[in-house]
This record gives sequence, C-alpha cells and structure tokens, in this order.
Amino acid sequence: MMTSNKKAVLSCEFFPPRTEAGVEKLLTTQQTLSETFQPAYYSVTFGAGGTTRDSTLEIVKLLTEKNIEVAPHISCIGSSKQQLSELLETYKSLGVTRLVTLRGDIPKTGELTRELSYANELVSFIRETTGEHFTLEVAAYPEYHPESLSPQSDFEHFKNKVAAGADSAITQYFYNIDAYLHFIDNCQKNNITIPVVPGVMPITNFASLTRFSDVCGAEIPRWIRKQLEAYADDADSLQAFGLDVVSNLCNQLLEQGVPGLHFYTLNQANATTAIWKNLSL
Ligand code: FAD
Repeated sequence: MMTSNKKAVLSCEFFPPRTEAGVEKLLTTQQTLSETFQPAYYSVTFGAGGTTRDSTLEIVKLLTEKNIEVAPHISCIGSSKQQLSELLETYKSLGVTRLVTLRGDIPKTGELTRELSYANELVSFIRETTGEHFTLEVAAYPEYHPESLSPQSDFEHFKNKVAAGADSAITQYFYNIDAYLHFIDNCQKNNITIPVVPGVMPITNFASLTRFSDVCGAEIPRWIRKQLEAYADDADSLQAFGLDVVSNLCNQLLEQGVPGLHFYTLNQANATTAIWKNLSL
C-alpha cells in the first residue's frame, strides 16, 4: 500500500492541432485549465514516427512564451540521433526542463529511422547528451503494453527505463484501479521508488473511447461499457455517467496516495475541469 499524499501534482496533456482554429482553441483550453486549477505543467504529444515534430515544437513555443511549464513528448521511432540532439538543444534554449520520453507509436506506413529502438535507449541517449538538465518522464502500462510478450518482460522493460535514468512515470489510462495498485506493488517489490502518476482519460464519447482503448490496450470494464452502450443516443447521460466513473476513480486513487494525476484532455477543458471539481483534494 502507498502512503497518503495530499500534495498530488496535477498535469494536463495536449496534442498539437492541425489547424489555426485548433491552436486558438488549445490556448483557450489552457487558459481555462490554468484559471481553474493551475496544473503543474502541460505536456504536448509527438505524432507517431515524429509526424508532428514541427507542430509539437510550435505549441511548445507558444506555451513557453506564456511562461507556462511545458513537457514536450519526444519519441525515438522515426528520428535520427542527429534530429533528436537538435530538438533537445532547441528545447533547452526555450527553457524546457521536462520531457515525456517515449519510443513512440509505430506508424502503419512508411520507412522508419530506428537508430534508437526503445524508450530506455532514448532515456540513456538524453542522459548521455544533456546530463541531468531534463526531468524525464516515461510511460508505464498497468494493463501491459499491447506489444508486450509477457507481463514479466513488460515490467522488465519498464525497469530498464528507470535504470537508464527516468525520474518519474505516467501511466496509460485505465479504469481498473487494481491494475494500477498491482503495478505499484511490483515497483515496491523491485525497489523502484520513482513516482508513477496515473494517466486519466475522461469519458465523453463512447465510439472514440472504444477505438482508442482497443489500440492502446486499455480495458473498458464490462459494467462501464454496457452502461455507455445503453447511453449511445443520450450524450448528456453518457457524459454524466462518465464524469461519475472517472471522478470516483480519481478519488480512490487520491485516497491511495498517488503522487499525481495526469489528465488526457484531448484539448478540451470541460471534462477535465468537471472531474477536478469533484476531487477531494
Ligand atoms: P517502450 O518502453 O520502448 O516499450 C515498447 C514495447 O517494447 C513494450 O511492449 C515493451 O515491453 C517492449 N520493449 C521495450 N524494450 C524492449 C527490448 N529491449 N526488447 C524487446 N521489447 C522491448 N505515442 C506517440 O507516438 N506520441 C506521444 O506523444 C505519446 N505519448 C504518450 C504518453 C503516455 C503517458 C503514454 C502512456 C503513451 C504515449 N504514447 C505516445 C504511446 C506510446 O508511444 C506507445 O505506447 C508506444 O507503442 C510505446 O512507447 P514506450 O515509450 O512505452 O515504449
């Protein structure tokens, strides 16, 4: 069991929009989130295979100009060491001190640069080239990564990232709290002491949640899935139910003393602020 921690660090994730209107919306969302609960930092995703390298950088620049703490995601799949080094230098020059360090999703098509194949190699590379400049977050999978060969090997690979120099981890989202608690038990048994922050996915749309969950290997428990299906034509009830489920999950996690909560905002403020208002912080 974890010890109680009432100082949970809250953070929020954005993705780089494709349009100017999307960028404007993201900035409005950030403003609302900051005014509501002042997240400690905002992370910005990096498209599969580095496909959003420029737009991720553009959003990072816009947010750092507002003196906001930003953690760009950086992935090694699809980028050469030279490109990664240049990006790290750019982030340093912008005052970025935190990165979410990933292998990255493998795009379905196209040739891939694979000078670094797994996230632990990227963590080592960043430590070799930039020392302790960056606080490095890595991904953790309480319900196991979809490509993992076994629970044991997946956990070994997580350990490799910690051994390479990760400071903290953010989980894939989950709705089974036991999966997270089991993961934390495993960390304790293996003397892993870095914070493992639950990733929180608000529930607002059944179709997109199912699609996402199938791809990333997050389970939607049957009782949640059935209820969401039943509300297929009733968006208000679906959102009210989703808010209830996710708020309860977050409160149970906080009771367990989690070090923080990382919200996958999908660039929307409403769902995340509604959950935050329900939290017993
Ligand atoms: P790794 O830790 O390298 O693991 C990938 C797989 O390889 C796992 O199955 C692992 O068990 C296995 N493995 C690791 N090392 C070895 C080895 N030496 N030999 C054999 N197998 C090995 N994706 C994006 O494209 N952009 C993003 O911005 C992004 N942000 C994310 C943020 C969070 C918080 C999370 C949880 C995920 C994010 N993802 C993102 C998804 C992530 O990139 C994918 O899940 C990706 O497939 C794996 O990345 P990883 O860093 O976890 O990889």
